[in-house]
Amino acid sequence: MTNKSVRDYIRTIVDFPHEGILFRDVTTLFADPRGFRIAIDQLLAPYAGMRFDKVAGLEARGFILGGAVAHQLSTGFVPIRKKGKLPGATISQSYKLEYGEAVVEVHDDALQPGEKVLLVDDLLATGGTAEAGIKLIEQLGAEVVGCAFVVDLPDLGGRKRLEGLGMEVHALCA
Ligand code: 5GP
Repeated sequence: MTNKSVRDYIRTIVDFPHEGILFRDVTTLFADPRGFRIAIDQLLAPYAGMRFDKVAGLEARGFILGGAVAHQLSTGFVPIRKKGKLPGATISQSYKLEYGEAVVEVHDDALQPGEKVLLVDDLLATGGTAEAGIKLIEQLGAEVVGCAFVVDLPDLGGRKRLEGLGMEVHALCA
C-alpha cells in the first residue's frame, strides 16, 4: 500500500503557459486510479450528510472532478463554460485576468431558485474564475453551499476573496 497524498500525484510544469509560471498539472492525478479516487473522496469528505441539488463544475478540469463528485452525491451536474460553448440560452459573467478579461456562461435554466450547489474546480488561484461562477449560480437564484478545489494557491488570494463573499472553501493541498 502506498501512502502517497493527493499532492504527490500532481506535477509542476515550468514555464507553462508562459515563462515564469509554474503550472500545477493535475492530469497525472486524474490518470492514476488511486490518485483520482482519493481526490474525489477527499473533495467530498467535509460534506458528509449534507444535501446538494447540483454540482457545478468550472471548465475544463472542474468538469472531470465535478462529474465524479456529482455521481457520488447522486446529484445532477451543471457545466459553467467559457463564452460561446453552450448551445442553449445563457447568462454570462465577465471577470478580470492579468491581461484583459474572460467570460463564463451557464444555461439560464440549469438551476432552479433555492437549489443548493457545490462548486468544484481543480485549482484556486486569484479566485476570479470561481467568483464569476458563484455570481452566475446566484443570478439564477440558487445557493452556493460549498466551493471545493484540489489545489489552493494561498499567495494568490483566492481563498480570502471567496471567504469575503461568505463562501466555505475546501481545498486538498497547496
Ligand atoms: P483563478 O481564476 O483563481 O485566478 O484561476 C483558476 C483557474 O485557472 C481555474 O479554472 C484553473 O483551472 C486555472 N488555473 C490557473 N493556474 C493553474 C495551474 O497552475 N494549474 C491548473 N491545473 N489550473 C490552473
